Amino acid sequence: MSEPLLHLALRVEQDIFLVRQRGREVAAAVGLEHQDQVRIATALSEVARELLRGADGADVTFALDRDAVGRRVLQVDLSPLRPLPGGRYEPQSGAVARLVDTLRAVDVEGDTVVRMSRRVPDHAEELTPERVGQLRAELAERAPGSALDELAAQNSQLISALDEVRSQRDELEVLNSELQETNQGVMALYNQLTEELEETNRGVVALYAELEEKSAQLRAASESKSRFLANVSHELRAPVTAIIGLARLLADSASDPLTGEQARQVGLIRSSAGDLLGLVNELLDLAKAESGRIEPDWSEVDLRAVFGQLRGTLRALTTRSEVELVVEEPPAPATLRSDEVLLAQVLRNLLHNGLKFTERGEVRLRAERRGERWTLSVTDTGVGIPPELHERIFEEFYQVPGTTRVGGTGLGLPYARRLVTLLGGTLELTSETGRGSRFTVVLPAGGA
Ligand code: ADP
Repeated sequence: MSEPLLHLALRVEQDIFLVRQRGREVAAAVGLEHQDQVRIATALSEVARELLRGADGADVTFALDRDAVGRRVLQVDLSPLRPLPGGRYEPQSGAVARLVDTLRAVDVEGDTVVRMSRRVPDHAEELTPERVGQLRAELAERAPGSALDELAAQNSQLISALDEVRSQRDELEVLNSELQETNQGVMALYNQLTEELEETNRGVVALYAELEEKSAQLRAASESKSRFLANVSHELRAPVTAIIGLARLLADSASDPLTGEQARQVGLIRSSAGDLLGLVNELLDLAKAESGRIEPDWSEVDLRAVFGQLRGTLRALTTRSEVELVVEEPPAPATLRSDEVLLAQVLRNLLHNGLKFTERGEVRLRAERRGERWTLSVTDTGVGIPPELHERIFEEFYQVPGTTRVGGTGLGLPYARRLVTLLGGTLELTSETGRGSRFTVVLPAGGA
């Protein structure tokens, strides 16, 4: 519901000042801030000037109303004396419309009226109907000032507007210089970070180069170790074999008879030389496998035949009656693509270990086909291996403490694992101390 506050007539040039001045007074009365008072007064004088020229004047009404969402607005209607061309109104400058919240032509009972509005702030004093009535009375009573007064007021408004523009420009300058400073700071930080990043990068690159050099050195060292082992063991084989032969000759019944003590010592020489030959042979095998000099001879291997052979050769090793060697019959079709000699060597080694480290119970060899893989397991009921040593026993020369009395070199398992890798498979261990061990060879049925 519109609540009228003041009516004015716009007829002559002088009235433009009047409309402007009273507009500012009304705006102040309903609680608009100083800036808004000047804005609405300026918009009013502009529209008034246009209507005086284009429509010979207008009737001006100030009122309080509510906008679409129910908020209080100061509304000014200017009804032209003559109809506007085409019933439309368009301010000459778009800037005028921006001085208020709305400025447009509306239809009031068939007449086109130019209406502008500006929202009254919420904190404006409570505009009760009584208060509005009071305001209306006050506004009606107030004597209009002269054009000169309005000009003076307009001037002082202009000065304060200029002042404000200047202070805003100063503020902007300060902001700009602050922004520039911040920018410089950010750039400095960015440069520093870039430098640090580059330095770190250079460090990483150097580290990589060093790492590569070290691993090349390591590779070279490992290769020369294998070469050295292969050469030395090869060179040692001949003299050790000669010692064994000579000892055999000495002990031969066809030779001069030896005293009991001599025969015992020659026997010691023979067995020591035999051990040495075993070690030399194992070293040679491992060195060959490590230096990649063993090339598997791939063929269709019959597991039954391999198992049969192992059963025969290892039975001789089962000297204890408390230990049974069980070589199960592999399920048919028991074939895989592999190297028969190398495979037999691995299994023999594992079975041999099983027999060495089992006092009673059994050592069992079993083959199972799982999809495209064969699982060959050697399970014993022997001393077992503590879990923390499960990987160590695959290192060269490592023997579980306390097991050395049964002999051996500590080279069998690393060699076996290397051969299984060559055959495209894996060699793993599960074991519990005192409960026995299981070594499992998994091989692809179709070869590596
Ligand atoms: P070697 O048997 O010649 O000592 P290996 O490399 O074959 O060398 O084995 C290394 C060590 O692993 C053995 O000395 C032994 O301590 C342990 N080991 C291997 N097989 C078994 C087994 N079946 N049961 C218990 N310990 C074993």
